[in-house]
Amino acid sequence: MKTRPAICNRKRRFASVEAAEEVARTASVKLRAYRCALCRQYHLTSRTKGMKTPRWELER
Ligand SMILES: [Zn+2]
Repeated sequence: MKTRPAICNRKRRFASVEAAEEVARTASVKLRAYRCALCRQYHLTSRTKGMKTPRWELER
């Protein structure tokens, strides 16, 4: 996914996809963790189109 620097700077960063998904799991909206090409860390996005559904969401 392409991420603009402005978005990267504004977003919360996670050191691992596990940490990001932990937050996504408890969020009230559907979120996906993705690796950012700019900061090499992980962000969450609510744009889920075309993204793989994580296993924990299927089990709900
Ligand atoms: Zn970033």
